[in-house]
Amino acid sequence: MEQGFILIPALTPQNANSTLLLARCLCHAEITAILDGEGWYYTCCPKCARKVRLLGQGYYCGSCAENVSDPKQRYKLIVRVVDISGTTTFTLFNKEVERLVVVPVENILAELTQDNPASEIPAVLNNVIGKTCGFDVKISSYNTNLGYEEYTVVKLSEYDPAEVQAVAETSGAGAEAQNAT
Ligand SMILES: [Zn+2]
Repeated sequence: MEQGFILIPALTPQNANSTLLLARCLCHAEITAILDGEGWYYTCCPKCARKVRLLGQGYYCGSCAENVSDPKQRYKLIVRVVDISGTTTFTLFNKEVERLVVVPVENILAELTQDNPASEIPAVLNNVIGKTCGFDVKISSYNTNLGYEEYTVVKLSEYDPAEVQAVAETSGAGAEAQNAT
């Protein structure tokens, strides 16, 4: 049972008139795990970026209501996060996952082999674990009405551990004169 995760309402909630989107929140937390069994990418429509489904031999986009001959793959990763108040799960989409792991999803898919099938979470994605980030999170009726977590992350910014440490040490550091040629 999850409780008490701090989600601070963002100052300027967007799309406030949307019935689905209830709030935008900001929080900072550490990613502690990738949820296994949820997959790590999805196949989407190149026009609208929504998930396509298999139809016969090809793919079909329900949103565009047409067959898709050149679907794209994008990251979708569900991660467990922890802050000082508790734990919950966030859904990270393509841009945010790519920002953290640096490698585009196409590169990983291109390297998959039989020993390393797409059903397994690639090792490089484990790099997200242990990262502390600021998360801009969307709370929708999916979360409140259905009681699901997996809050969608709209944007994230990774905190640089070196910077965090530097701030902590501003008063005491000094004996690090390095003069290499
Ligand atoms: Zn589409």
